[in-house]
Amino acid sequence: MTVQHAQPIGRLIQELTKLPGIGEKTASRLAMHILRAAKEDAQGLARAILEVKEKIRFCSRCFNLTDQDPCRVCQDPKRNREILCVVSGPEDLIALEKSGGFRGVYHVLHGVLSPLEGVGPKDLRVSELLSRLQGGEVKEVILATNPSV
Ligand SMILES: [Zn+2]
Repeated sequence: MTVQHAQPIGRLIQELTKLPGIGEKTASRLAMHILRAAKEDAQGLARAILEVKEKIRFCSRCFNLTDQDPCRVCQDPKRNREILCVVSGPEDLIALEKSGGFRGVYHVLHGVLSPLEGVGPKDLRVSELLSRLQGGEVKEVILATNPSV
């Protein structure tokens, strides 16, 4: 008979292996780390996970991930609403914001068109983008997506 982890540890390892890039070995290491951590730290981690699930949603204008709708970028009166930057994902928006040079607004597609993987315009926020453009406020569109079909 092989010795196994106590059931709660096994369950934590099993949940951690569901995360991208986390194999069995890394999951065990993380589980042991959590076990050794202070109770407050473990609670902080658990709360942070629940909080993103409860509080984060899409901005109804740009589809950025946000805890307030409209998001901070869309609410900012100093932003130039005539310049719209189209990005693939929320990470791209964050990267552009960190670079600090862009003062317009965004539209987050949440993916890239990929006919081979069955991702068409309907799967992305394309119709929402088109209706924003038809609104007439936008004068310039910057495509900051990776070149793809
Ligand atoms: Zn927004």
